[in-house]
Amino acid sequence: MNDCLFCKIVGKKVPAKIVYEDDQCVAFDDISPQAPIHFLVIPKRHAASVAELGAADAGLLGHLMLTGGTVARQKNIADDGYRFVINTGKFGGQTVFHLHLHVLGGRPMHWPPG
Ligand code: AMP
Ligand code: ZN
Repeated sequence: MNDCLFCKIVGKKVPAKIVYEDDQCVAFDDISPQAPIHFLVIPKRHAASVAELGAADAGLLGHLMLTGGTVARQKNIADDGYRFVINTGKFGGQTVFHLHLHVLGGRPMHWPPG
């Protein structure tokens, strides 16, 4: 998608600190980290949110989560634990409309979220 920020990161037209990439996804550090470790895992293919996905995308969604876990291990937050977040739509607090999995760690997380 031409005017999508995260598509531009996938296409290397906007710089990002990419920490992992394969044929399906890219992971990069969040520009405004909310925890000592905060990175995003996104599909290379544009999808506005998780609400756009269907049964055919189950593998892709699983791949994003498994990649989040792999990168969490590489960043040494796996032993203490971490949090996955997928903000979806207006009430979900989504601000960038290209599906992304937040992975946050390096400090205790609170519950319930705000
Ligand atoms: P959300 O509110 O769930 O849509 O999250 C969007 C996330 O993208 C926020 O945590 C932003 O800090 C992050 N973000 C926005 N622009 C960039 C960028 N250029 N590089 C990395 N992360 C970004
Ligand atoms: Zn996009």
